[in-house]
Amino acid sequence: MALEIKSIKGTQDVLPAQSYKWQFVERLFLDTARLYGFKEMRTPVFEETRLFTRSVGDTTDVVQKEMYTFTDKGGRDLTLRPEGTAGINRAVLQSGLINEALPVKVSYNISCFRNEKPQAGRFRQFHQLGVEMFGSASPSADVEVISFVNDFFAILGIEGLSLEINSIGCPTCRKEYHTALKQYFEARKDELCETCLTRLDKNPMRILDCKSPVCKEIAKDAPAVLDYLCDDCKAHFEGLKKRLDALNIAYVVNPRIVRGLDYYNKTVFEFVSGDIGAQSTVCGGGRYDGLLKSLGGNDQPALGFAMGIERLLMVAEAQGVEIPAPQPCDLYIASIGEEASIRALQLVTDLRNEGFYAECDTMGRSVKAQMKYADKIEAQFSMVLGENELAENKANIKNMQTGESCEIMLDESLVKFLYDDQIKKMTEALSMDQIEK
Ligand code: ATP
Ligand code: MG
Repeated sequence: MALEIKSIKGTQDVLPAQSYKWQFVERLFLDTARLYGFKEMRTPVFEETRLFTRSVGDTTDVVQKEMYTFTDKGGRDLTLRPEGTAGINRAVLQSGLINEALPVKVSYNISCFRNEKPQAGRFRQFHQLGVEMFGSASPSADVEVISFVNDFFAILGIEGLSLEINSIGCPTCRKEYHTALKQYFEARKDELCETCLTRLDKNPMRILDCKSPVCKEIAKDAPAVLDYLCDDCKAHFEGLKKRLDALNIAYVVNPRIVRGLDYYNKTVFEFVSGDIGAQSTVCGGGRYDGLLKSLGGNDQPALGFAMGIERLLMVAEAQGVEIPAPQPCDLYIASIGEEASIRALQLVTDLRNEGFYAECDTMGRSVKAQMKYADKIEAQFSMVLGENELAENKANIKNMQTGESCEIMLDESLVKFLYDDQIKKMTEALSMDQIEK
């Protein structure tokens, strides 16, 4: 029978052959977060729709075109989160976390949902690693957040990502900029797409982020926001560059970056890759000083970044970054007959309690088939238990790579044997390291 029910377009299954890579980058992210003092926070997958229309902004592509919005059985207007910042902001206000010692620094690892056209690097369910930092208006905070991403990529072994920064000013300087933009786009109104026409009055800066090729072309010569910054925003941007220089973090100023979410002000940045095609932004972030207040909360500056895990893994793959594969099985215990299979169960349990990865047969297969399975899971050692082995409480342990074998007692000697082997392998790996250096 053909499989009737398949996964939804734009979603992906992460199979065991790939999941270790996800676990590795997620762990590395948490490790980096710990060094920078960001603690993990988890928020619900769905929220009230108005949380997103208010924070992400009702003239953005995300809100206008991409949200999975539905009415639940209680008539509530809900949306699957398209990004993480809105939910985290709601939660730090609702929980009172924002009233604790500042800065408040949190990290997240979430799935997001956007109804976009699926293509390379663009999915309908995707995953983000991100941080948010509340309470600091200083460019030092901007640099901490950028430096976090920079370190994370470096530890992972990803190279050559370009850090692009810009400042999109604050509500004060943006007024004048909006007027200039409006004037510019007004003159070419007839060529703009329908969505951008509606943006012209409400939020002309959004036109700069439109994906339509015609709008993109027109936007190329639009006035640049950097020419309109007020003194405060200018000083902030200079402060950011000075600190990036001090930390030797390379960057380029790209006056075209505005980011696709309305809540941003002052610093915006992206880490862009030349290795993964059109969907090249691996990580995006910036400041959103007015967001908490607009949600009815404290007037505290804030900032953050979000990084797409799918795109991150695409870059890692394209660059041949070696993500360590999980350790294979230490010992496979094959058995003949019920008594031996029970003894095998006891032994693997004991070994697992000692921290070893051990397996035995649960399929009732022939010894030949059991050994084939041991090969498939790349067991380092194997042994076969039968009547004799049980009677004498000893068995032959075989090195699956070299074929060498020796006799071993089925007691602590087995644990000691596996420990000794691990130490031997570690010593070898260390001396290989030395030779390479
Ligand atoms: P893009 O310009 O590619 O549409 P965006 O500006 O919409 O990205 P953000 O909202 O800033 O993206 O999200 C941060 C990161 O999340 C992106 O840099 C990207 O790595 C990832 N991301 C965003 N949308 C998707 C998607 N549909 N599929 C996979 N990853 C995504
Ligand atoms: Mg997008």
